[in-house]
Amino acid sequence: MLDKFYDALLAAKHAVCFTGAGVSTLSGIKDFRSPDGVYSKPWQGYNVEDILSLSFFRRDPSIFYAWARDFCYCLDRFEPNIVHKTLAELQKRGILKSLITQNIDLLHTRAGSPDVIEVHGSPAKHHCLKCHKVTLYDEIAPIVMRGEVPKCSCGGVIKPDIIFYEEQLIPDDLNRAFDEAQKSDLFIVLGSSLTVQPAASLPLAALQRGAKICIVNAQPTMLDNFCSWKFNDLKEVFESISHKLEQKTDDSSI
Ligand SMILES: [Zn+2]
Repeated sequence: MLDKFYDALLAAKHAVCFTGAGVSTLSGIKDFRSPDGVYSKPWQGYNVEDILSLSFFRRDPSIFYAWARDFCYCLDRFEPNIVHKTLAELQKRGILKSLITQNIDLLHTRAGSPDVIEVHGSPAKHHCLKCHKVTLYDEIAPIVMRGEVPKCSCGGVIKPDIIFYEEQLIPDDLNRAFDEAQKSDLFIVLGSSLTVQPAASLPLAALQRGAKICIVNAQPTMLDNFCSWKFNDLKEVFESISHKLEQKTDDSSI
């Protein structure tokens, strides 16, 4: 099974990959949006959906920043794993044409991925809600970790460029993601149960254009009956692909 998928990956003209929270949990990052995730429980009496909603943030950003300290502003505690690293290698070799993620932990970029379409935004940049000045993650993270709320020099509240509830996804990113899905002849879903949008629609768009689908996810997904390959264990699959890629390099250097 895995051999056939690997051959299909090498033979694909436009392989596209979509990653969800399951890829990050391998690095120890908690899946806070999943129904049984740690953050599905209220945090200090607040619902996480409220903490992550724009109106709530505008009223009192200190609650978001206090909550986000433990996962969003200490990202240097986590390292890219075999999936991130292998995907970056596949992109550099031109085997993987496009990488789309709904993760907001910057681990694909840190693993060396040359281009990532981040459909849920990214904390790499922050914006002042008043004057729109941009501040980078590295400047904001130490302030948040000290327990302070980052403030702009104009007095405005600074917000990370991650997509909050009540906010629209960025049209440019979303359009790019759908373009890539529609261009793909092999669409790979990693670590997503395809329950939230646009996660569910992307492989569907690919499927409608005749692409083959591969899903690697521990839980069942609604597209399991339509995919050509379904694997459960991300680590196992990517250790194998990584190994095959190394062999390929050895073969071609002889
Ligand atoms: Zn400002």
